[in-house]
Amino acid sequence: MSAIFHFSRGTAPLLISIPHLGSQIPDDLRALYTPLALQSGDTDWHLDTLYRFAESLGASVLGARYSRYVIDLNRSPEDEDLYPGQTKTGLCPLYTFRGESLYNDAAALTDAERARRLETYWRPYHAQLRAELDRLRAEHGAVLLWEAHSIASVLPRLFEGKLPDLNIGTSAGASCAPQVQDAIRARLRACPDYTWAIDGRFKGGYITRHYGAPADGIHAVQLEMCQSTYMDETYPYAYRPDLAERVIPVVRDMVGGAFEQVRALARR
Ligand SMILES: [Zn+2]
Repeated sequence: MSAIFHFSRGTAPLLISIPHLGSQIPDDLRALYTPLALQSGDTDWHLDTLYRFAESLGASVLGARYSRYVIDLNRSPEDEDLYPGQTKTGLCPLYTFRGESLYNDAAALTDAERARRLETYWRPYHAQLRAELDRLRAEHGAVLLWEAHSIASVLPRLFEGKLPDLNIGTSAGASCAPQVQDAIRARLRACPDYTWAIDGRFKGGYITRHYGAPADGIHAVQLEMCQSTYMDETYPYAYRPDLAERVIPVVRDMVGGAFEQVRALARR
C-alpha cells in the first residue's frame, strides 16, 4: 500500500476513485494549519464504507489518504477554474468551504511548497489512476471510472439553497456514452425518495473531465452526494447506518446500471 493513497485491485472494468476521502494532514505540515483546519471538515467522509458494495462488482478502489486541504486531487495541476464565475475551491485552498482560514499564516503556502505538494501527493495518485484505467481498458475494451464524492448539503458560499441529494456529473454528456447517462437517469427516475440532478451545479470535476474519453473506451461519471443522505454533517461527522442503508441501494443501482452499459459497449 502506498503511503499517500489506498488502492485495492479488482477484476472487473470498474474503478471507483475517491480523491477527497483523505482526512489526514501530514505530520510535517500540521503546525501550518489552524485547529479548525486540522478537523478536515470538507472531507468526503466515509465513502470507502458507503461504496463497500463495489467489491462484489469486482471493482478496483482508489482513495486518497491526505486531506484536500493539503492538495486537491480533483483540480488540474495548473489550477484552472472548474466553474468560472463561482467561488473557487482551488488546488491548494486557503479557506474552508465556509470561508474560514486554513492556515495560521497563508504566506507559508509558497509557490515552491505548492510545487512540492504536486509532486509528492498529486502526481502519484494520478499515475495510479491512469495506470489502472489503462490496464482495465486493455483487458476489457472499456472501463467505467466512477468518481465518488460527497459534500455538505447547504454551503451558501458555494451554491444557493440546498443541493439536490444526488448530483451526477458527466461534463454535460462529454465524459461517458449517452447510454451510460441514460441508465443512471432511469434509476434516478425510479427512486422517489431523493432529489437529484444531472449536470446541474456539479458537472464533474477535473478527474471526470480529464479522464472521461468515451470514444476511447473510458466512461467517467461523478456522483456528488449530499452528506445528509448518510452521515451527520457536523463535527465529528459520524456515519449514520440508519440513513446509509436507504441510500446505498440507490447508489449501487446507479453504478450497476452504468457498469452494465459499459460492459455492453465493450462487447461490441
Ligand atoms: Zn469531493
